[in-house]
Amino acid sequence: MPALTRNRLVVAFLALGVACSAAFARRAGARDAWPRRVRERPERAGNAKLEIAVEPGRLAVDDPTLTRLIGDSARALGSYYGTLPFSTARVVVTPVNEGHIKGSTRCAGGIGRVSLRVAPGVTAADFRSDWVVTHELLHVAFTSLDDDSTTHEWVGEGLSSYVEPLVRVRAGTLDERALWRDLVRDSPQGLPEAGDQGLDRTHTWGRTYWGGALFWLEVDLLVRERTQNRRSIRDVLRAVAATGANVCVDWPMARLIATGDAATGTHVLADVYAARALTNAAPDLAAWWRKLGVAPGGRSVVFDEAAPWAETRRRMTRD
Ligand SMILES: [Zn+2]
Repeated sequence: MPALTRNRLVVAFLALGVACSAAFARRAGARDAWPRRVRERPERAGNAKLEIAVEPGRLAVDDPTLTRLIGDSARALGSYYGTLPFSTARVVVTPVNEGHIKGSTRCAGGIGRVSLRVAPGVTAADFRSDWVVTHELLHVAFTSLDDDSTTHEWVGEGLSSYVEPLVRVRAGTLDERALWRDLVRDSPQGLPEAGDQGLDRTHTWGRTYWGGALFWLEVDLLVRERTQNRRSIRDVLRAVAATGANVCVDWPMARLIATGDAATGTHVLADVYAARALTNAAPDLAAWWRKLGVAPGGRSVVFDEAAPWAETRRRMTRD
């Protein structure tokens, strides 16, 4: 073989080797950025263990940060509850190609399982300011109700929707004025429309989420009014949790009402359930906002600290 040809072959071989190495390096790099295996990331939140699993795919947040952020949401909920009413919960993070953060919760294998679908553009700051993880963990912590999928779905969805911002204001991840701005602006979607038959029988999106949230807001306001702010919705949740109930335990609605009313020493749950679940009577939202001292003000709200329920409004996000 002439020397020139041999040298060309050596050069060609070396060049091929570099190209293969570069291609291999790109594949290795791609594997690092978008791992192809499920990573198990256990995390503690007070008394509870979180089994966090991150499925293959592209995320903007690395695993340690993601784990800590989910843990922070669970720890904030734990401080609201005192003690979380579950010893273990599973949180499965699935990267998806569109949207933001979506969640769902169910009981699987005897423990609460939260499924989070996270888009590649979601940053750590987005996670901190988002509501979904707290909303889903509230589902894990709250009892399931008999016939939950239809008749009483609004109870759990309303509870998660109403309590989630209360937990996040306490944790410092949501501004108090943003809570009230969203409530005043969006909650009218929960009001009954002509032809509605109450929350147990009318299952539109607005009645299920915002109608349910208004139910729990009314319970909180009336319990606080009747007990001079000594009791609140938190006593209801703590009493339910103290029995060991969570998403994997089914209760009849009557037990929830009896347990909650015993915890507050009132008949508020029974009364509000009769009015909102079984008839299409609407609460007077304008009167609530006036008494609480909350008025829309540009992109935020204006507080009236001299309003009759101003103290109640302040304590709703503090105790
Ligand atoms: Zn929900």
